[in-house]
Amino acid sequence: MAGLVLTDLRKSFDGSEVIHGIDLEIRSGEFVVFVGPSGCGKSTLLRLISGLEAITSGTCAIDGEVVNDLPAAKRGLAMVFQSYALYPHMSARKNLSFGLENLGLPRREIDARVTEAARMLQIEPLLDRRPGQLSGGQRQRVAIGRAVVREPRIFLFDEPLSNLDAELRVSMRREIAQLHRRLGNTMIYVTHDQVEAMTMADKIAVLRDGRLEQFGTPLELFNQPANRFVAGFIGSPS
Ligand code: ADP
Ligand code: MG
Repeated sequence: MAGLVLTDLRKSFDGSEVIHGIDLEIRSGEFVVFVGPSGCGKSTLLRLISGLEAITSGTCAIDGEVVNDLPAAKRGLAMVFQSYALYPHMSARKNLSFGLENLGLPRREIDARVTEAARMLQIEPLLDRRPGQLSGGQRQRVAIGRAVVREPRIFLFDEPLSNLDAELRVSMRREIAQLHRRLGNTMIYVTHDQVEAMTMADKIAVLRDGRLEQFGTPLELFNQPANRFVAGFIGSPS
């Protein structure tokens, strides 16, 4: 199947299991939000999907191919972190182009992708600045741009807006939603913010203590929460 399929996915650190057998199917093009309290395993799950962390057991398949043993760089994914993780000594332009240069793409292709992403994210006037000369919101735009130029099959966002103030969060949410409509890629977006989950998601995966409590549309979760935890977390009346 096109998309992402997790089958009985498990992760242990030093013999102690923190992801306890997750089964999940994400269709190609869906915007899926992973939500749940701090420590429930959201980041770990993203890192297992991205290849930054080794899978202990179970499988992760992308577009029908099991990728457990595929290095992160070969999975065709791009991740955006809360902390931006930009190279401080490089200009915004270089932050965008660097990864593509390493992949050996032709100069013309790199420049075209950087120009297009910069236009999409409205960072064209900022391209010659270094991260230290940018605001938090501008840095996060550059970090998203760096993911966009890779043309990934799947975007992975790990609480990308939690360092931004409330007003900026609202406008960045809108921009990320726009980006999704425009690109049509699969996006997996981690947050502990219920409002973000309910407003952005095609589907929400509610996690608790390394287990998947429920996976469904915001409306399904609101109207038919699987249990009191989901109801409480989503804020539904039942
Ligand atoms: P979340 O992102 O939902 O806040 P995490 O995925 O960061 O949660 O953490 C899930 C659990 O796994 C926590 O109990 C955390 O302490 C543990 N954990 C995460 N990374 C490591 C690691 N590298 N070594 C040991 N334990 C870890
Ligand atoms: Mg986390």
